[in-house]
Amino acid sequence: MCGVFGIHGHDEAANLGYLGMHALQHRGQESAGLVAVEDGVMRRHVAMSLVSDAFDRDSLAKLPGRTAIGHVRYSTSGSSELRNAQPFVFEYAGGQVSIAHNGNLVNAAELRAELEAQGSIFQTSSDTEVIVHLMARAREQDVVGRLIAALRRVRGAYSLVLLTNDERMIGVRDPNGFRPLVIGRIKDAFVLSSETCSFDLIEAEFMREVEPGEIVVIEKDGMTSHRIPVLEEPASPTFCVFEHVYFARPDSLVNGKSVYRARERMGMRLAEEHPIEADVVIPVPDSGVPAAIGYSKQSGIPFEMGLIRSHYVGRTFIEPQESIRHFGVRLKLSPVRSVVDGKRVVVVDDSLVRGTTSRKIVKMLRAAGAREVHMRISAPPTTHPCFYGIDTPTRSELVAASHTVEEICRYVTSDSLAYISHEGMMSAVGGGPGYCSACFTGEYPVPLGKDRLVQIRSRRSAS
Ligand code: SF4
Repeated sequence: MCGVFGIHGHDEAANLGYLGMHALQHRGQESAGLVAVEDGVMRRHVAMSLVSDAFDRDSLAKLPGRTAIGHVRYSTSGSSELRNAQPFVFEYAGGQVSIAHNGNLVNAAELRAELEAQGSIFQTSSDTEVIVHLMARAREQDVVGRLIAALRRVRGAYSLVLLTNDERMIGVRDPNGFRPLVIGRIKDAFVLSSETCSFDLIEAEFMREVEPGEIVVIEKDGMTSHRIPVLEEPASPTFCVFEHVYFARPDSLVNGKSVYRARERMGMRLAEEHPIEADVVIPVPDSGVPAAIGYSKQSGIPFEMGLIRSHYVGRTFIEPQESIRHFGVRLKLSPVRSVVDGKRVVVVDDSLVRGTTSRKIVKMLRAAGAREVHMRISAPPTTHPCFYGIDTPTRSELVAASHTVEEICRYVTSDSLAYISHEGMMSAVGGGPGYCSACFTGEYPVPLGKDRLVQIRSRRSAS
């Protein structure tokens, strides 16, 4: 749950970096940072805030140069504090490197213990610093060789953007391709981003995705492509299906597909699988809107905006503290009485994780006069935590891990509750292999490190 961005070879690198990160704000709201390089000197500005608050004219003016990388962060590993704000800058024998990371490593704790035993002193509690130390210790001279040496050791999810003080920009996607990373052009400059929506904002042209297991190196002569060497069995791509369901912005293309259309198809499939007699279909905004449109199209029940979202509070699911999350539901959503009063209402949401938000929504709609409330979820029950960079709660907090659909329906107090099937969701995103859906199945495509297995075992015994 982070966003990464980079731009190489443009006179407005810092300004466009700022705009690019702005478009990625939905991927993380805890910290924002930019690093730019000019004449071999790297300059960095990071803050614990939204992009628009982190930067002003002065701070951007202090980031000269034609190449810059940026990061917006939500902490899935490492605490929420300034020392963990990215991009990091570090020095190694060959110069300076800056790094921005989206994803989680599954063997970070083991590697960190090993590195600390060998004398490494960590400055942060982030997974990403493990890659930094592995690069610093590598015997290779060139930064790309050091990066490859480091990546041979790490397992898990990583989409990285790196910057060197000799003005090379590097993009990397792990061999499974869990997290997105795309390449674009704006005039002669190259751009890297987590999502294409940032290209649209800066009027960059989408070229292609960074392939799973690919390293692209962009320098003044152009772009070259390298592969992360495979030590064991070659990994099959397992792109995170949750990016389609919830996380990516609907105006983005991820994994080559429109997020909006995939969500709309999920809603259509949900209507086929779980029809209901009702008067109105309403979404839980914003991310539930395309699926609700799909449900309405397929069922013929009119679509209306029966809940209004305030855009001046963070997204509930990714608020880091339980106390804020509970408060946030009431702050965030309010019902439109004229839409729901006296009606049989279908509410389409894209996930039901703990059940607490849905329960409050049902209560709000009934208080606004809804005669019946039918919850429809455009994802299958979330039964397992994610270890690849999405902040799903622990298994004991996932209501579907230990309760039947009927029990959850009783808990949220809806008249009916139904989820899309796993098969239905996969067919809506184009089907077939090539996706991770472990949070719905428990089938983790990259074996978890010892520390993660201990977490799952303790969560199982807790649930
Ligand atoms: S476990 Fe779920 S959220 Fe995590 S990468 Fe897999 S599909 Fe995405």
